[in-house]
Amino acid sequence: MALREVLQFPDKRLREVSKPIATVTDEIRELARDMLDVMYDEPGIGLAAPQLGVAMRLVVVDVAWTEEDGLRNPRVLVNPEIVHAEGTFSWNEGCLSVPDFQAEVERAERVRLRASDLDGNPLEIEAEGLEAVCFQHELDHLDGVLFIDRISRLKRSIYVRKRTKQLRQERGEPRSQTVSQAGEELG
Ligand code: ZN
Repeated sequence: MALREVLQFPDKRLREVSKPIATVTDEIRELARDMLDVMYDEPGIGLAAPQLGVAMRLVVVDVAWTEEDGLRNPRVLVNPEIVHAEGTFSWNEGCLSVPDFQAEVERAERVRLRASDLDGNPLEIEAEGLEAVCFQHELDHLDGVLFIDRISRLKRSIYVRKRTKQLRQERGEPRSQTVSQAGEELG
């Protein structure tokens, strides 16, 4: 089966607040499988359900995996929430939904999360460094927040302009009015 498509900025569905999962159904299990397939294929170290256009509170993360060693040890988190955060940690972040851009983002260095697994078992996870960053990044997606919301306005506007131009070129549209229209909408 074909992989599901990852939504890309400025798709409005990335801005929705996702709903809690009341019951893990077969559909949710299938969604988790699709998310893992997409994450490993891209490759990325995490993915949130809204990036596939499903506004549900489900994320998958595997920070240790590399294409070379191929060992997969994914965490699948249902309704994750951060219950404690401390310290600060900066990482040059990228996102499968924000093409061709990376920027340093300051986040908590250590986090404690609560979630459930796909069998409904409660999980409590402590993470630090890159893994903590990854959880914070993915959980942001569940609230419609992208990492570009956490950088300076200047850097964000430079990216938005670049992205607007890129999309215009992809559509083969003329230069004129499209720029200002999109700029206003996104700004
Ligand atoms: Zn992301």
